[in-house]
Amino acid sequence: MPRVLILGGTTEARALATALTAQPPAPPSTAASTPPLATSTSSPPPTTPAPPSPAAPTPPITVITSLAGRTSAPLQPPGEVRVGGFGGVAGLIAYLRTSGIDVLVDATHPFAAGISANAAAAAAASGVPLIVLRRPGWTEGPEDEWHRVSDLSGAAALLPRLGRRVFLTTGRQGIAAFADVDAWFLARSVEPPAPPMPARLEVLLDRGPFTLDGERRVLDFHRIDVLVTKDSGGDGAKLTAARERGIPVVMVDRPPLPPGVRTAASVEEVRRYVTMRW
Ligand code: NAP
Repeated sequence: MPRVLILGGTTEARALATALTAQPPAPPSTAASTPPLATSTSSPPPTTPAPPSPAAPTPPITVITSLAGRTSAPLQPPGEVRVGGFGGVAGLIAYLRTSGIDVLVDATHPFAAGISANAAAAAAASGVPLIVLRRPGWTEGPEDEWHRVSDLSGAAALLPRLGRRVFLTTGRQGIAAFADVDAWFLARSVEPPAPPMPARLEVLLDRGPFTLDGERRVLDFHRIDVLVTKDSGGDGAKLTAARERGIPVVMVDRPPLPPGVRTAASVEEVRRYVTMRW
């Protein structure tokens, strides 16, 4: 049975695990299509046309999703799940070998640069084929006011002159970068953040996907005047709500991918890449 390791922690990784674990429909039963035995010997039994041969099904795939273990109650993908770091590149190489992995899929968040670098290095060293699933980033429209920065400290440096009531959607681990900024913050994260944090901070514990109406309510209720986000891609309801209100957006650019890796922009593209190998 082919074995696929998905480095996960994203909606796409769960969707891919679902797509790969979905079994192809069983071929029609031969008993049901066998014609009834003829009861008369005076005429030959009726012949029935042979059923069309079904396309060769892909063999069932063993799918293992790996989670970093950052959240206490992660959404569980179908298939097997393992939790926790591998122990750097050497640990990941050892895991690929001992677990007999045939294909490695990096479906981690576009800002999880450490594990993506490790995946590229481990794949190159072990010879296990790697494909990186990255949803496309967002694109600024004519009615948007975006300020692109290369990292969180760049976002923090820009803030005081763009607004005083900040909606911070960069995740719990990014909050420390704003600890010394003189502004009021609403920070949204799945798990509560830990210090260092801004002095004036309200935390909104929530997990996406988020609706446009919900995002409008958050911006209005908290009188937000600037939004800070990573260029994660996805539905972007918060960006639409910000555009409607003329709220400026500080957009943190993605870190670069490791050089030379094969990439795909959709779950379907990765599913095809994986299943065409068998
Ligand atoms: P990171 O900085 O790239 O990775 C740090 C270390 O965490 C890695 O070296 C690895 O430890 C371990 N790790 C990360 N992802 C792993 C995975 N899927 N399976 C096993 N070990 C993993 O990662 P991060 O930015 O902290 O993100 C952690 C996880 O949260 C990622 O899986 C990512 O998909 C998800 N996530 C991240 C963000 C974000 O903004 N960064 C947002 C949403 C979700 P070892 O070296 O010991 O193997």
